[in-house]
Amino acid sequence: MANRFENKVRILDTIRERRKVSRPLLAESLAINLPTISNLTKELLDEGLIHGDGFEKSEGGRRAELLTLNPSFATAVGLEMSLNGIRGIVADLGGRVLHRVEGPREIPRDADGAVKALLAVAEQLAAHGEGQRRPIGVGLSIAGLTGGGRVLREFPHREAWKDVPLADLVEQRLKLPALLENDVQAATLAERRHGSAREARNFLYLHIGHGIACGIVVDGRLYTGATGNAGEFGHTIVDPAGPICYCGNYGCLESLASPPALVDQTLQAIRKGVHSKVAEASGADLRAVDVEAVFRAAESGDRLAGNVVTKAGEYIGLGLANLANFFNPELIVFGGGVLIKAYGGFNETIERTFRSRVLPILQHQTRLTLSALGSDAAALGGSMMVFEDLFDRPQALFDLAHGKRPEARAARVARGGNREANDGRRKDRAGKAVRRGKRVHAGQA
Ligand SMILES: [Zn+2]
Repeated sequence: MANRFENKVRILDTIRERRKVSRPLLAESLAINLPTISNLTKELLDEGLIHGDGFEKSEGGRRAELLTLNPSFATAVGLEMSLNGIRGIVADLGGRVLHRVEGPREIPRDADGAVKALLAVAEQLAAHGEGQRRPIGVGLSIAGLTGGGRVLREFPHREAWKDVPLADLVEQRLKLPALLENDVQAATLAERRHGSAREARNFLYLHIGHGIACGIVVDGRLYTGATGNAGEFGHTIVDPAGPICYCGNYGCLESLASPPALVDQTLQAIRKGVHSKVAEASGADLRAVDVEAVFRAAESGDRLAGNVVTKAGEYIGLGLANLANFFNPELIVFGGGVLIKAYGGFNETIERTFRSRVLPILQHQTRLTLSALGSDAAALGGSMMVFEDLFDRPQALFDLAHGKRPEARAARVARGGNREANDGRRKDRAGKAVRRGKRVHAGQA
């Protein structure tokens, strides 16, 4: 027999998962009698964790009130750092963006400079709101390898950055709990909670920004792999005879179809004398050519750019078909700067190739859709990480309801508190919680 605390947690989990639930449905799905449900939901209402949101449709009779999480219960900072710059938001539990700060578009070459710029943006965001509306934590959504949970192991094209303890640095400066996650994995979480994948329990998030990566959700949980580095879709080998990749292998998607590869292929052809609008548009300086120029030329009918873009779309569609055959996702969400812009023909080429290459049974069962969150996905994912962590430590959640804000990790460790263990939920090394019976991390089963 579960106790009162555990039953309140189960009710919250159910409301969070189903978004809108009536009391009778809670009673039925949790096998708790209706008077007890009414009692416990009254406590949750008083604590400000949930609120009433409309009534069930019904044929005559009394209509049951629907309960949802109270979106205003808490706010959190989400910070994104990638090769496209630093930007951050404050979002509430309902995924609403309340405030934005745009940082520098150019990432400093040195790690110290980048950390300084990141902290400056973080400070502005953390100061947003008053009292209960102040952010309760910071989710860092960072490009690169974050395996290990609190330390940025590597950042793309910044070879000198090694093992930057980003989460600890942010905690020390802001005196707020901070979490670190790869940007694509964070964006995947945002799509799951508030984006195009709200109804999906098994889906893939295809991200093409500077590089190519993939987020994976299995049975409702973000799958991050044994060491936090799952989803390096860009290093899938699609042509063993292809060009060498920066990872040292031949024929990875990154080397054939990533934005830098499209630029390289176009410039190589121009230097060999192939005529192209890309060369005309760039003036005399071919170094100024970026992937946008290649896509625009392709859209305007340029033969070279068109061929380069089509070939890349075919490689990506092929790789995606392999992934779908393996994972059998119900949905694949297209996100990241390049896919969101939906350049003429590119996303269509990916989809056409995907459907012609995937197993026949999956051909029409797998939905492909564009991100509903656009360029906010990664930063919003940062905020969502803070809430995921909070819901995985229910005691901290109820403490917050009674005005006690979550402590930074260093303070919890220093106190020797082991409250997480008493919550009945365990935390894995990445600072993400692993729910009872819902573990999908390899190596932890
Ligand atoms: Zn590679």
